[in-house]
Amino acid sequence: MPNGYNGKILHVDLTKRLLTIEEPSEAFYRKYMGGSAMGMYYILREMPRGADPVGPDNVLTLMTGVTTGASISGQSRINANAKSPISGGIGDSQGGGFFPAELKFADIDGLVIKGRADKPVYLWIKDGKFELRDAAHLMGKKTGEVEDILKEEIGDKKIEILQHGPAAEKGVLFSSLVSMANRNNGRTGMGLVMASKNLKAVVVRGSKKPTVADRNALIALSKTGPKLLPDNPDMPGLAEEGTATVVLSQNTIGSLPTRNYSEGQFEHCEDISGARMVETVLKERDTCYACIVRCKRVVEIKEGAYKVDPRYGGAEYETLGTFGSYCGVNDLAAINLANQMCNEYAVDTIAAGATIAFAMECFENGIITTEQTNGLELNFGNADAMIKALDMMLTAEGEFGKTLGMGSERASKVWGKASEDYLVTVKGAESPAHMPHAKRSLGLIYAVNPFGADHQSSEHDPYYEEGVADLNLNRLKLLGLDVPQPERSLSPEKVRFAYLTELFYSMLDSVELCQFVYGPAWTLYGPAETVQMINAVTGWDVTVDELQVVGARRLNLFRVFNNREGMGRKDDKLPKKFFKALKGEGPTAGIALTHNEIESAKDEYYKLAGWTKEGVPTQQTLENLDIAWAI
Ligand code: SF4
Repeated sequence: MPNGYNGKILHVDLTKRLLTIEEPSEAFYRKYMGGSAMGMYYILREMPRGADPVGPDNVLTLMTGVTTGASISGQSRINANAKSPISGGIGDSQGGGFFPAELKFADIDGLVIKGRADKPVYLWIKDGKFELRDAAHLMGKKTGEVEDILKEEIGDKKIEILQHGPAAEKGVLFSSLVSMANRNNGRTGMGLVMASKNLKAVVVRGSKKPTVADRNALIALSKTGPKLLPDNPDMPGLAEEGTATVVLSQNTIGSLPTRNYSEGQFEHCEDISGARMVETVLKERDTCYACIVRCKRVVEIKEGAYKVDPRYGGAEYETLGTFGSYCGVNDLAAINLANQMCNEYAVDTIAAGATIAFAMECFENGIITTEQTNGLELNFGNADAMIKALDMMLTAEGEFGKTLGMGSERASKVWGKASEDYLVTVKGAESPAHMPHAKRSLGLIYAVNPFGADHQSSEHDPYYEEGVADLNLNRLKLLGLDVPQPERSLSPEKVRFAYLTELFYSMLDSVELCQFVYGPAWTLYGPAETVQMINAVTGWDVTVDELQVVGARRLNLFRVFNNREGMGRKDDKLPKKFFKALKGEGPTAGIALTHNEIESAKDEYYKLAGWTKEGVPTQQTLENLDIAWAI
């Protein structure tokens, strides 16, 4: 019997309504470990080249990892992968909560979904049994309503539901998958892919806890969590204030995107900070299965213009950034309402907020007027207009709403060439609220990452800059990194930092571990404890080096997929706006990226990765990683 996982992958062919179980070998699980590395194994084999992202040939994988469901913090994660309708390259997103662990308890490790049902269905999985059920009555309903209907219908309040929302049914490109009505597999349009298959939801319930190889070792490690937390420089803030805790530190280093990435400091940053949320609108903290950190927010606002229902959670840092400083808005209630609306309709808050900020900059510069916006005075700082624009986007109201729902890159094609100057997208993905002007190596990762600008694909620069805390540097040494670099450098050593930490993060998105609990530097547990945890659960004898290879496999499989779809170095491109000096105040005012530094960093990065100058993995690289089959 395997430890940690069930050894069962459920294949769902919606066209044929055929559901079959595959039982891969232990060697297969150890090689890919779950998540997106495992998903890519199926996607590359089963999806034809050039498949329509919203056609039946697209293959959607939902994979947990080999430790999901174990009784320790930070293991309840699930990865969604498919061809992205946004970029035409690979799509990738992670989500947490209780759904991932419950899928494991239901005796399934992951799903490979293809085809298209002839009418809306949902997939019901309970304790190793599964069936497709009619979902016509769920269509058009908000995520919370779908939760209520299914709990009533199935007669079990403890079922977990992963669903696409009404935005996907209206064709919003950056639609997400939502569980608990407030946890998202947010990025790259995975909700639209699931909707295109006429699969409304995956609903799970199980009673089978995965076996653990060394229970005592897992309990011992688990008990260190509460002791490690208070002495870690970063964890108490995350626990108390959630991810919003970084609003002020981001502002201090000039990395809080303000007015659509025109400035790095927001004059009203205190109003949208984690501390202000705790003082004013926070109802309680929430968590994911078995996690002691409890970083999730629950916000309730009963009075005023913007009322917020606690079932939809509360704004994360990225949401405070994109609907806050990005839009020049400092109204916490409006931002939390925007968060609620995104969760009700199931869309990525980064893409939604950033697209509205892009529209605001176009409006301020006369590229669009009230004629296009349906009368909305879409100036920076106008919270009412922001909420109305979001409503139009989510319901695809009128031409303006439909255009916003395509994301900023496609909206720019509608509004004309002059608007391109205001884009902050890479491979169609709007940039998160961390600025490459302050975090240079993150700029490189935004460029080369296979699914576009992403802030959770490598460690952030301040953790490898002079003055970094001992805890962080001691952990980075385990990856071979021990020469912190000057602030804002993009030296070859910084590129090495970006690449090696990217491999570690890539492994985390395969084993499916939360990047706030396990990581190469600042998290609750570092690389040594990550190894201990995986070994305690599985009974294997993995090392940091073996985990880095798992990370490299995922990254190379992504790259092979993109190359197959015609993507390469030409697509590893940052937006023009990043090369224009920032305005405003603070340490990044007047700072721009340069083409030379980014192009040299790309050369250096491709060399480290074993790729050609065009960004294509060599045959030798794939053979070294034992994935030559992917050629
Ligand atoms: S740290 Fe936060 S996001 Fe990560 S598992 Fe714990 S509660 Fe969930």
